[in-house]
Amino acid sequence: AKRQGGNTYRVFVPSYRAVADSRRDLIRDLREAIRTHSITLHYQPIINAQTRHLAGFEALARWTHPILGPIPPDRFIRLAEEAGLMHDLGVSLLAEACLTALSWPNDLWISVNISVEQLYHRNFIQEIKRILKETSYPPKRLQLEVIETIFMESDAATYGVLQELNILGIRIVLDDFGKGYSSLGYLRFFPFSKIKLDASFVRDMLSDSRSAAIVSAVIALAGDLGVAVTAEGVETEEYFYRLSSKGCTEVQGYLFGYAMPKERVSSFIEENCRK
Ligand code: C2E
Ligand code: CA
Ligand code: CA
Ligand code: CA
Repeated sequence: AKRQGGNTYRVFVPSYRAVADSRRDLIRDLREAIRTHSITLHYQPIINAQTRHLAGFEALARWTHPILGPIPPDRFIRLAEEAGLMHDLGVSLLAEACLTALSWPNDLWISVNISVEQLYHRNFIQEIKRILKETSYPPKRLQLEVIETIFMESDAATYGVLQELNILGIRIVLDDFGKGYSSLGYLRFFPFSKIKLDASFVRDMLSDSRSAAIVSAVIALAGDLGVAVTAEGVETEEYFYRLSSKGCTEVQGYLFGYAMPKERVSSFIEENCRK
């Protein structure tokens, strides 16, 4: 706010023009970053909740803007979707993820996030097949994480794409389970291999008995359906202990490791060598 004399103040809000310009600039920089492969993947470990062995890694996108610094992935992924850049970005990240995971012990899998715009791109399945073929990456060691907004489009189309992926041998994971409105309905609709219990339930389960009851019920239900459960946001031993004793399949969180660049993954695997 700027003093204008007397007691009046004028609040300066960025004009629509300025906001639109900076958005346009950011999209331009994003396009350039995709072209030059400056958006990279970091990998966060996922641990078997029963044996405490390393099970795999989730690939998480990172972009450090030359002037603005690190941009949160939530933000640049949405921007890429809105600007129609997500298909190209997704293809290049998926190829990078498969190439990286190829050098890991062959019982470790990689889990890659897939956004709505990617799933409905007409070349999506074709590109997945091409990447698997060119990298000779085994589809059984690939997981794709989707969120329930993919069901906003036609049910039949969504079912078709997921089914095609399933037939290729790729596991489909329903991410952010419980965060939306109809998670349970989608479990009936499509045979997911795994659900990822949203971190918000995990965070509240020690202090709130209702959240704890939901976590228990989801794990039991998933068990009956033959669906694995990964709990996100596991930050302390106490959470790990509770989830493990409830029968949770896998856990992921800062207790076990942050997302790390691929160079660091190799040493992480060696330190956590399970044998
Ligand atoms: P997500 O798929 O739910 O990923 C989990 C997020 O939780 C990651 O945030 C991860 O760094 C964070 N996290 C992991 N463990 C803990 C913990 O113990 N405590 C807390 N507080 N947080 C933890 P990140 O990397 O900032 O990613 C945010 C979101 O951006 C992701 O949520 C995902 O929706 C999206 N995203 C990231 N990379 C990609 C990508 O390559 N493609 C697509 N489509 N989306 C992506
Ligand atoms: Ca995810
Ligand atoms: Ca999630
Ligand atoms: Ca999320």
